[in-house]
Amino acid sequence: MDFHVDIGPQYEGETVRKDDMHVEFGGPKVSAKFELVTLKSPDEVEHEKVEVIGPDIKDMEEGSSHPLAILIDIAGEELEKDMEPVIERRMHMYCNYIEGFYHMNQRNDIWIRLNKSSFKKGLDSFKEIGEILIFLYTSELYVIEKISITFVTDPDKVSELLPEALKVYEARDERLRGLKEDDVDVFYGCVLCQSFAPTHCCVITPERIANCGAINWFDGRAAHKLDPEGPIFEVEKGELIDPVRGEYTGLNQVVAERSLGTYDRVYLHSAFEHPHTSCGCFQAILFYIPEVDAFGIVHRDFVGPTVIGETFSRMAGVTSGGRQVEGSCGMALELIRSPKFFQADGGLRRVAWMPKEIKERYKDAIPEDLYDKIATEEDVSTADELAAYMEKVGHPWILGEVELPT
Ligand code: SF4
Repeated sequence: MDFHVDIGPQYEGETVRKDDMHVEFGGPKVSAKFELVTLKSPDEVEHEKVEVIGPDIKDMEEGSSHPLAILIDIAGEELEKDMEPVIERRMHMYCNYIEGFYHMNQRNDIWIRLNKSSFKKGLDSFKEIGEILIFLYTSELYVIEKISITFVTDPDKVSELLPEALKVYEARDERLRGLKEDDVDVFYGCVLCQSFAPTHCCVITPERIANCGAINWFDGRAAHKLDPEGPIFEVEKGELIDPVRGEYTGLNQVVAERSLGTYDRVYLHSAFEHPHTSCGCFQAILFYIPEVDAFGIVHRDFVGPTVIGETFSRMAGVTSGGRQVEGSCGMALELIRSPKFFQADGGLRRVAWMPKEIKERYKDAIPEDLYDKIATEEDVSTADELAAYMEKVGHPWILGEVELPT
């Protein structure tokens, strides 16, 4: 295949800084953006078709930010519905194989940048990017017999399509609710983000969705079936060492191997001592607030300073890179729904602050008697104000009503 830029795993881990950027898609300046893979019947997919709806890259002003929907349709006899999220997550890897093309995050959080150098080399159309992606998908995943890609940059069309994509993500997450860690024999691990975070290894259990929010336990199982030698693999649980913190012998062994000996213990359900590692794709951060000895949660789209005066992006710099950072943990937003959400530290009842948008979005997951006691950016601006707020509303953590499990 003849393309204007080079392609290969050597470009994974390469970032595109603002000054080097020709254009960007999604990211914090753009509200409507997403990527979605859909399994269809063979007669519904026109193999290798790439369509662009809206302005193409070459028509865009240098330095500008745009909405984007990437719709990938696939067909294949051996493909299963369960494999959609896994194939979707491969977008992260394959986009980052393209020289000067940088992909971050997932689902409706995507953030893509094209650098000036690759644009000048001639990578100025989504047609070519689509052709490259089809080449990579069909070269690596033989079960894909037919594939087509549509890039939508028309802002109205992206906004119109987004609600349907959100419904699909919700249905995928819903499927898992109710399944427990004790119900399964194996967990799954993912090292897809090691190109950016070399010591990171996501551990995915029925009660712990991956940091990016894009891979749940069912997706891990489907991914392993789809590509047994790929970045997602089975993790034997081994002996349960600590049911509260979520420590297992098998898990410790795998994390030690995959982090190249950097870490040999991991707690799935605690932010202290040996917390889970954080790459850079996490949807949100759970952060410790020393003044109140409680936690806050901030998500990627929250642009202002949090209650501790730091923005998401500053905190992400400290949290990411594949390290275990006590009191600062990358997480998927769906984890808020998990009964094991940081259970060793007090769980949701120790959360004192979160952005209003997240509080409203996860209202059904927050206990009714706690909901009004969690402050948002509209209630307080500083940790001191938060302490006063917690006193005033009678937050259960400050009243000593939360017993830590032992
Ligand atoms: S965040 Fe975790 S699960 Fe998601 S792609 Fe990265 S390593 Fe894999």
